[in-house]
Amino acid sequence: MSTDDKRETILDESNKNSFDVNEIRNLFPILDLHVHDKPLVYLDSAATTQKPFSVIRALERYYEQLNSNVHRAIYTLGEEATAAFEETREKVRQFINAEKTSEIIYVKGTTDGVNLVASTFGESVVNSGDNVIITQMEHHSNMVPWQMLCKRKNAEIKYIPVDEKGDLVLDGLEDMINERTRMLSLVHVSNTLGTINPIKKIIEIAHSRGVPVMIDAAQSVPHLKIDVVDLDCDFLTFSGHKVYGPTGIGILYGKEKFLEMMPPYQFGGEMIIEVKFSGPKFNELPYKFEAGTPNIADAVAFKPAIELVEQIGYKNIADHENSLLSFATEMMEGIDGIRIIGNSDNKAAVMSFVIEGAHPYDMGTLLDQMGIAVRTGFHCTQPLLEEVYGLPGTVRASFGIYNTIDEVNYLIDCVKRARNMLV
Ligand code: PMP
Repeated sequence: MSTDDKRETILDESNKNSFDVNEIRNLFPILDLHVHDKPLVYLDSAATTQKPFSVIRALERYYEQLNSNVHRAIYTLGEEATAAFEETREKVRQFINAEKTSEIIYVKGTTDGVNLVASTFGESVVNSGDNVIITQMEHHSNMVPWQMLCKRKNAEIKYIPVDEKGDLVLDGLEDMINERTRMLSLVHVSNTLGTINPIKKIIEIAHSRGVPVMIDAAQSVPHLKIDVVDLDCDFLTFSGHKVYGPTGIGILYGKEKFLEMMPPYQFGGEMIIEVKFSGPKFNELPYKFEAGTPNIADAVAFKPAIELVEQIGYKNIADHENSLLSFATEMMEGIDGIRIIGNSDNKAAVMSFVIEGAHPYDMGTLLDQMGIAVRTGFHCTQPLLEEVYGLPGTVRASFGIYNTIDEVNYLIDCVKRARNMLV
């Protein structure tokens, strides 16, 4: 067994559900990098997470040993590729506790998932004079598709407000929903504020008025257990790359009754059962929504990412990340002139802050010189930061399973140094 293979399998059965951050760091080769001669301190997992060896090797293995097209070939290789592709679908079904694999659709990522639903379900149910409800804290991916749909249909888009602390103001929700409301779509965990929204309660309120709900779970799946049956959401979407998997693969979950009534998103091979010159007959679920050759390699390599999360366990993940977040918050609050944006009592793994008298971009640039990767800017939530908080952006540090208290200490130290240079 090579060293690399050992690192791929270091979390064996004997230490299942234990949490040793150094052992976990060992699984991620990129964490050994140096940037500007400093050890890389990667604090941008909300943008994308790093990949464990098991995912990287699965990609290699796929192209070395399995590559062929799925669902078409009668030869062995094609059957094996199809089996591996469908195994991940079953893995995802279990992971989010969906009832059927026909409800699990491969998409490119969260953006693609929202666009699919807005362009098919939205297109069918929203008409002139109707309205769609989202929140002020949506990522552009769960805002622009609904804005464009409403514009096209001459419908209204309404926003659930966000308060100073970073929580949704839900008092007015019952009144906001009326008989012309066709859809409510909202983020589970805000990528900018870190707020964990009470989606179960919101889904209940919407359903009591007959309104279907879509959940953007891009930032929750890496940190929180998702159970679509318990939530009773109608659609839910997330990206593989934010949960230690490859880029270019994501999941759209939809209740079968809605997926059945929706028209296909794209047309071509794979999504048809037969085609005549007079027209096509569409394939069954989930293939009706998977036109063309899918992203087979990344779907196959997504499975070990899910297995890693399952192996560590959400309780360990939450305990570890919450301790990083509370320590970081406490230390950051002690620095003069630093203000944390997003102070909900219910937060996950994201700390956004601004520096009095300095632009977030300048802070980000200085931190990069010190080896720290943080995000600066609007984080694809421009209306939230500009129009609700009146800010030109924030610096955002976000945590994953591989971050350490030492890294947080280093961040705090570097923020202090950078602030002294800037202010
Ligand atoms: N929603 C949220 C809350 C996000 O954080 C992101 C990614 N930053 C997206 C949607 C879009 O995800 P993707 O770019 O993977 O499609």
